[in-house]
Amino acid sequence: MLRSVNCTSSLGSTSLFFRFFHKYPRSCSSFSSSTTAVSRNIRRLSTPEAAGRRLFTRRGFNLRSAASRSLNGQFSRFSIRAVATQPAPSYPGQDEAEKLGFEKVSEEFISECKSKAVLFKHKKTGCEVISVSNDDENKVFGIVFRTPPKDSTGIPHILEHSVLCGSRKYPLKEPFVELLKGSLHTFLNAFTYPDRTCYPVASTNTKDFYNLVDVYLDAVFFPKCVDDVHTFQQEGWHYELNDPSEDISYKGVVFNEMKENTYGVDSGGDPKDIPKLTFEEFKEFHRQYYHPSNARIWFYGDDDPVHRLRILSEYLDMFNASPARDSSKVEPQKLFSGPRRIVEKYPAGEDGDLKKKHMVCLNWLLSDKPLDLQTQLALGFLDHLMLGTPASPLRKILLESGLGEALVNSGMEDELLQPQFSIGLKGISDENVQKVEELIMNTLRKLADEGFDTDAVEASMNTIEFSLRENNTGSFPRGLSLMLQSIAKWIYDMDPFTPLKYEEPLKSLKARIAEKGSKAVFSPLIEKFILKNPHCVTIEMQPDPEKASQEEAEEKEILEKVKASMTEEDLAELSRATEELTLKQETPDPPEALKCVPSLNLSDIPKEPIYVPSEVGDINGVKVLRHDLFTNDILYTEVVFDMGSLKHELLPLIPLFCQSLLEMGTKDLTFVQLNQLIGRKTGGISVYPLTSSVWGRDDPCSKIIVRGKSMVGRAEDLFNLMNCVLQEVRFTDQQRFKQFVSQSRAGMENQLRGSGQAIAAARMEAMLNVAGWMSEQMGGLSYLEYLHTLEQKVDQDWEGISSSLEEIRRSFLSRNGCIVNMTADGKSLTNTEKFVGKFLDSLPENTSGGLVTWDARLPLRNEAIVIPTQVNYVGKAGNIYSSGYELDGSSYVISKHIGNTWLWDRVRVSGGAYGGFCDFDSHSGTFSFLSYRDPNLLKTLDIYDGTGDFLRGLDVDEDTLTKAIIGTIGDVDSYQLPDAKGYTSLLRHLLNVTDEERQIRREEILSTSLKDFKEFAEAIDSVRDKGVTVAVASQEDIDAANKERPNFFEVKKVLFIFYVRISQYKFSRIFVYLLGFKTSLV
Ligand SMILES: [Zn+2]
Repeated sequence: MLRSVNCTSSLGSTSLFFRFFHKYPRSCSSFSSSTTAVSRNIRRLSTPEAAGRRLFTRRGFNLRSAASRSLNGQFSRFSIRAVATQPAPSYPGQDEAEKLGFEKVSEEFISECKSKAVLFKHKKTGCEVISVSNDDENKVFGIVFRTPPKDSTGIPHILEHSVLCGSRKYPLKEPFVELLKGSLHTFLNAFTYPDRTCYPVASTNTKDFYNLVDVYLDAVFFPKCVDDVHTFQQEGWHYELNDPSEDISYKGVVFNEMKENTYGVDSGGDPKDIPKLTFEEFKEFHRQYYHPSNARIWFYGDDDPVHRLRILSEYLDMFNASPARDSSKVEPQKLFSGPRRIVEKYPAGEDGDLKKKHMVCLNWLLSDKPLDLQTQLALGFLDHLMLGTPASPLRKILLESGLGEALVNSGMEDELLQPQFSIGLKGISDENVQKVEELIMNTLRKLADEGFDTDAVEASMNTIEFSLRENNTGSFPRGLSLMLQSIAKWIYDMDPFTPLKYEEPLKSLKARIAEKGSKAVFSPLIEKFILKNPHCVTIEMQPDPEKASQEEAEEKEILEKVKASMTEEDLAELSRATEELTLKQETPDPPEALKCVPSLNLSDIPKEPIYVPSEVGDINGVKVLRHDLFTNDILYTEVVFDMGSLKHELLPLIPLFCQSLLEMGTKDLTFVQLNQLIGRKTGGISVYPLTSSVWGRDDPCSKIIVRGKSMVGRAEDLFNLMNCVLQEVRFTDQQRFKQFVSQSRAGMENQLRGSGQAIAAARMEAMLNVAGWMSEQMGGLSYLEYLHTLEQKVDQDWEGISSSLEEIRRSFLSRNGCIVNMTADGKSLTNTEKFVGKFLDSLPENTSGGLVTWDARLPLRNEAIVIPTQVNYVGKAGNIYSSGYELDGSSYVISKHIGNTWLWDRVRVSGGAYGGFCDFDSHSGTFSFLSYRDPNLLKTLDIYDGTGDFLRGLDVDEDTLTKAIIGTIGDVDSYQLPDAKGYTSLLRHLLNVTDEERQIRREEILSTSLKDFKEFAEAIDSVRDKGVTVAVASQEDIDAANKERPNFFEVKKVLFIFYVRISQYKFSRIFVYLLGFKTSLV
């Protein structure tokens, strides 16, 4: 969830070498954007339930777009190399470390990340510490405990939430939230894995960094939650009873969070089992596992390595050795002697064709012991070869079979003790289940027998090497990505440095392929690990329209029994306890307590915004922006075309048009060949639309962007391929297009279920402004509805669609109005100009149509979108410019403060929602409130409506205000790698945001006063009075709301099929954020 509001969102790269696509750890965490997916309990890792629900989540990144996937998704997984141009600082001598109580175990220079790494052991407790030194200013700290759960009560997950709720030195309700509010962190979060819990922080500001480290260390070792049952109740579970005459219900942050996780055993917790957990067990788990002897600590960056040990010794010296390290040991599971099959039901909506909602997945546990690095790397290559791109054979054959609509759980998983491989399809009909299984096995057989195409091997090789060289982790700190790779071995007592050293194994793999041919390398792997591996578990999931209500009924029954077993006194006591907890939650921390959280002063904050070098010029009459930045010999480029002359009715075709450009092929090249060519010559090309309102203008910014990257020496190839994609691709492949449509529909349906808040936000924007309307047409509920009709139309009128696709191309492809954006070092920029010129000269001169004026919105109304769910997403939004509000930098501070205090306390803490937040889009003037996985509906709306009064009644002291300002600056100055800097600069150019204006906004932010808060109340009142409401919610809750407030909601039913949860924690306007960048005016 987006508590941490880093404007640029992230790409976490985690596992060892081969994490090419859609494989992120289920990074569950309490706050910033969280939650784990992977299989949970390591002891049951390969059981079908676990394997069947390896559901991955990526932090803040829109997976749905094929475009973004091809550019960032599959290329950013390798994140091993940190840029370092100066020699690393030297390490403390033996003496200093000794004096602080540490012995040096080993020391290495890791050339892959130009870092010096030392492994220490704290002598008294045995705690292990890795201290990595280099010149990366984005410093990272992380502490990791091995926490294998015994059951599905969710202890590790509840503990992960709870330790951040106050500690010995920081006795607040939530120091974590104070850090979010008032620090410059570039990362702040926590993750629960199936067998470990990680607490990482990052910052570029040294003082800030050490503040964060201290709060985290105190939190994990001395949390208040082990003495205070209220935290356990709040974060874990409790019975709630407001009045003895009412029904008892379950409440708890983790309980609600896991409601959508419907299956299996889970370190995250199963809502059926969470209420079995007692406070005693919870305390004992902390005592046993949150101990230095069971901890592994990571430091990374350009700070003083001696100081790191100094900080640690202060904490670690307070403990004696414990046997925790042995008791938390994770034992490998023996391989089964034969295949197994599991059939399970999952809750499905009643609408749609139930028959087509089956899914099947084949899972192999690859080995009963960890694999050596060579094998692991080779399996990673194999994974990419089989599944990494749309042209990869296993992926392509499954999707083209027409048997199902999207892959599930596909690929290698190597982050846990024993690696696994899974592949499956969803959206299949009952009678095709068998066929899918056969197709998978036959394809694997065929790949083992015939091997892979040479071009494909070369494309994978180049892709992998490019990723290694680029090491683009997005806004995910590089040091954290390294930590997660290292910990995947370290946590099992293996060498923590091995996973960071890829050069040698890569070289030798390449040599083996060159010498023996790829077949000799990969075929035996398929044979051994898959075809002849007896440990194969097939999971079939069958839709059950009754299951959701059945589960609800069961829960209700349990609660009724609980109530029936209570005496009148018990009930009175419970209602008193409920009241007490609520009161405690709603009582703010006293100012003295708040002061104890260390924070920066305003004087620590730079007075000027971060400037990106930017030069506007032209090449052959076309505007070109150049950003002279060190990029390690990589050229990043964007070519921007105007969408202004496109006909309205063609808008919803744009996403599929973009996908077709990359995945349909030309007269001379099949799409497989085109894809391989892109993989061999470049670091990736993507095409996608971008829309946004522009401050002070009526007409929106609406563009089509072609984005690409390559080594500078391959720039000519890059521009030739972009030209080929734009001009030569032919829209003739009806069957492929049909696949695109059904995959997109399936993706949208998943989004509706997992990220209802994004759908609601898009819907509200579509009512309020044109850019929002356009985005919604291309990625909201309207788009989903369009896809439903399009699916029919592909069969009936393919000619028509094909010529519409051509018409789209004609309408935007022109040098007129085109802008080229380039990021690389100055010399490389100059050297590539001739290729840009050639590319531009080949573009047509004029667009065919005239300029179309956009003026479309959805009708203003309160809408409720019905989906099968147990939790709601509730939104309300209005345009505060139209109420007379004039943009001021203080609005960023105020909206952040509203989210961090009022909404956090009311919607999350006492309301029981997983999140409540607000967003102010300064480009359009839209102020929106949203909740995430919310058990309430009208009650949440009342909280939104109370925001104005909250602001008027607010009394913020100097300290709180400073924190709010610093936190806002932290968002504005978020850490960016060079490609992100260049891209953000382009967006600012497109949205008319000048550096002068950024300076003004920054000054306004820095001088925000209480008076600004009070004045903002009026603007917020206009949202209360004139705003629109959109809720994505259950039928039951909507009915109840309409009963309480007759005709409040217009009910909108969506015909859709949903599958087992694949969550996305994304709160965003779909396209503005598409590549993970939100451009603020500052
Ligand atoms: Zn959580």
